[in-house]
Parts: sequence; C-alpha cells; structure tokens
Amino acid sequence: MGARRNIFRFRLELPQGRGMLKGTYTKPVPTSPTRRAFIGALSAIGCLPAAENGWIELFDRRSLENWRPSENKASWKVVEGCLAADGPRSHLFYHGPVNGAMFRNFELEVEALARPGCNSGVYFHTAYQETGFPEKGFEIQINNTATGEGSYRERKKTGSLYGLRNVYRQFIADDQWFRIHALMRGKNVQIRLNGMLVVDYTEPTPPIIPAGGERERFLDRGTFALQCHNNGSRALFRSVRVRPLPDDTPTPTAAPQVDETFRDIINLGRHNYPMVDYHVHLKGGLTLEQVIAKSMRDGIEYGIAVNCGQGFPTENDEAARQFVESLKGQPVFIAMQAEGREWTQMFSRRAAALFDYIFTDSMTWTDNHGRRMRTWIPEEIGTIADQQEFMDTLVDRAVGILSHEPIDIYANPTYLPDQLAKDYETLWTDARRKKVISAAVSNGVAIEINNRYRLPSASFIKMFKAAGAKFTFGSNNTGPEDLKRAEYGIQMIHECGLTWQDFFVPGDGPKAVERKGGALKA
Ligand SMILES: [Zn+2]
Repeated sequence: MGARRNIFRFRLELPQGRGMLKGTYTKPVPTSPTRRAFIGALSAIGCLPAAENGWIELFDRRSLENWRPSENKASWKVVEGCLAADGPRSHLFYHGPVNGAMFRNFELEVEALARPGCNSGVYFHTAYQETGFPEKGFEIQINNTATGEGSYRERKKTGSLYGLRNVYRQFIADDQWFRIHALMRGKNVQIRLNGMLVVDYTEPTPPIIPAGGERERFLDRGTFALQCHNNGSRALFRSVRVRPLPDDTPTPTAAPQVDETFRDIINLGRHNYPMVDYHVHLKGGLTLEQVIAKSMRDGIEYGIAVNCGQGFPTENDEAARQFVESLKGQPVFIAMQAEGREWTQMFSRRAAALFDYIFTDSMTWTDNHGRRMRTWIPEEIGTIADQQEFMDTLVDRAVGILSHEPIDIYANPTYLPDQLAKDYETLWTDARRKKVISAAVSNGVAIEINNRYRLPSASFIKMFKAAGAKFTFGSNNTGPEDLKRAEYGIQMIHECGLTWQDFFVPGDGPKAVERKGGALKA
C-alpha cells in the first residue's frame, strides 16, 4: 500500500496539473466490469499499480521493473524519476502484469521529452525482439528535429504513425514535455499531440502493409515499447499510462475506400516522399474541418494558404498575422500565397516569416506596354497578337519573380492562357524552359506539381528534375470538390521517375524569407 500512496502523491506533485489532462480525453470508452474488478482486485493486494478511472501507470518511476530492454541494454536508465534513452539502439518492452502485457484496444498516454536531434518512438501491438527495429506492430514517431543519418533524410515528425500516416510539420519543440495520446479501437487508431488530433487511421481489410522492414505492421495485439533509436538520440519518459479497453470495442469509423491512389499514398509516404498538398484554399464553402477530416482519411497533410496582395482579402501585416493566428493548434501547414508583384511592398519580413512557407505564381504581371494582367482571365489578356513576344515576356517575368521575390515554392508553374495552352509543348521552347529552370534551381525555389492545371507537363518536369529542381504537390482548389489527393503528382512520380530526394519540405533549409527577406518592406 505504501507504494500506492507514493505514486499517488507523486502525481499530485507533477508540475503541470493532471486535472487539465482529463478534460482532453474524448469519448471515454467504458472498461468492462469484469476487467475493472480484476484490475481492482490485483491492485488491492499490491500486485499492480493503482488504477485511476481505469488508467494504470506502467512505469514505477524508480526502476526498470516490468520493462525489458533489447540488445544494448545499458541504453536505458532511470534518471530523476524518468526513463532515459541514451546510447546505442535498444527498445524497451513492457512485460509486466498489467493485462498480461497484451493489449488490443486501449488508451495510452505517454509523457515524453526529446533532446535536439532525437529520433525515438512508442510502439504498440509489438512483441519483444532481441535485436533491430521491432518488426511487429506500429511505431508512433518521436522526432522534432532529427534529420537522419548518412544520406537519408528523416521527414516523419513527432506524431506520425510511422510509414502509414505521416506528420511532416514539426508541432513539438525539443526539450519540452509533451503528451502523446493513442486511442486504439477495433481497426481505428487515433493519435493526439498535447490534445491535437494528428492521425486518425482506419485500417482497411485486408491491411495495407507498405513494402519495407515492418512485415507485421497490421493491427493485432501486443505490448508497448519505447525506442532508443541510436547513439545521440536522447529522450526522457516520465509517464506511460494505459487504460485497457474491451476486446470487442467497436471500430468508430467506416472502413476506408481503398483504391490505387490510397495505396500509392501509403507506399510513397513509407518511402519518404512527403505526401503534402501545400496549396489549399478555404474557398467555395470548403471548411477547415472538412480539410482535416480529408487529411486524416486520405493520408495527405495539407497547407492552408491565404491570398495576400493588392485587391485580396489579406492586404497588410495585421490581416496576415490574424490568419496565422486562426490556424494555430491545427494539424496543417500555414502558407502565404503572394499575389501580383506589389506584395513585396505590402508585407514586412516579420509578418512573412510567420508562415511556414511562401509561394506565388507568374499569372499576374504587367506587360511591356504597361498593362497589368491576370493571365487566367481572357478579358484581361485580350487577343494575343504576337505569341512569341508574349512568351518572351512571360519568361522574363517568371525569371524576375524566381530571382527576386522571397518565395519557397513556384505555384501553377509554366501556366499558359487558354488561347495558347494547346501549343504548350512548342511555345515552351528548350531555350525558354532552360531560363525558368535555371532561375528556380539557382534560387532554391521548389516547383509545384499542380493538380488543377496538370502542370508542368511530364517533359518539362523531367527537365526540371535533371537540373536538380525540387517539387511539391498543390491543388489550388476552388472549393471542396477539387481538393484532391495529388493524383497528378503521383502520376508524375511514376512517369518521370521522381525520387523522394526530388521533393521539398519546409524546414529542410532556411526559409526564403530568411534568405531574401530584404526584398520585403521593412
Ligand atoms: Zn492559390
């Protein structure tokens, strides 16, 4: 009983009150009366730690009792009441009495802290394995700032259901305690970071197991494990709490519609392609809730962009700041779509830096006769008398934008007005292509593979790739119907042989606003 009281007292002394945590649990699923009675009886005789509303702490804060490390066993220690991962690769498996260390449905809450450059994780439905990364079960990734070893670049951030549903945006800071909450019910697993839903995955039947090392990555049952990924990856865990749920807990969601795109998204994500659509507008009735629901269902992360420029709803720093504020705490990237060429004098460097990235296109410019035009509006273009002159001006403006404006991504690239589109392949001569490609590559601007216009063409993308350009996916949707799953981008990956190294993710290097912010107003 003394141990029970100790644990209870320790909880009260935690710096961030437990009371707040309770409010974040969604729809608690009742534990079966038999299990409750069973756990209660064991607790009373001191075999199990105390259960609080069905929650049971698996770590006694003093020892590695009930935990079994694999391979480099000295990589795990208890330091000041925390499980500390520090050393060469080892996984620490729970093998204590709670539920016989065999969990199917559960709620799990882990409080963790990752040091800079740390790769770690929490496995479930796994089984003890003496060496290597666990082949059975799933990993909830912990990685805020680890960039990978050798030539590999790790892009799956904290909260990812590793290889199946990846999080590409960094939501958690190093050296700060955070909560991972996993809710496993039937075929559905939800992952929350500090209360924010980042993964809501329902496994299809039969399950999709991406080609890779994890041959037994399907929902089953098993124990939990913590990861010490490699020497230099240092993590702390101060609580690993579980609330077992009945084996017959129903799946709360419908089975997903599995088609070729659904499979492609999982397999490409597993092989390190960042499955992010960076060009989404909350327009035409599309709501943030719909975007997030689609993101969870389809396995694509989205970047929500606001149009910033003359004649657009966002015309100054304050409006830009409000937009960024409105998306704080949401599982999306936050983007600035810069409009027209005036934007650089309308927004300050500081406001532009609030966004995860900035993109623009070359669809708005002023021609050599002083006429400002938006090239997708036929009335503003008029009849193009000299197609060659138009093309040369377009190339000149595109090169100017790529060279001088602080943008991370070039959107709607190589777009031509309707009256020229049928001659796209010939009007885009090799010489013109090379100018645009060279400007993009030398200025570190990624090329959007645009789903709406199906641009650039495959021949153009191959030339971009050969020159070392980086790519992104973008919908540029007008409403809910044309927010897609990067179908054209996936087609281009296959058709043009694009590799994961050919793709851009924000945070890979300094942002454009850091490199070229001097172009913006003070
Ligand atoms: Zn747009």
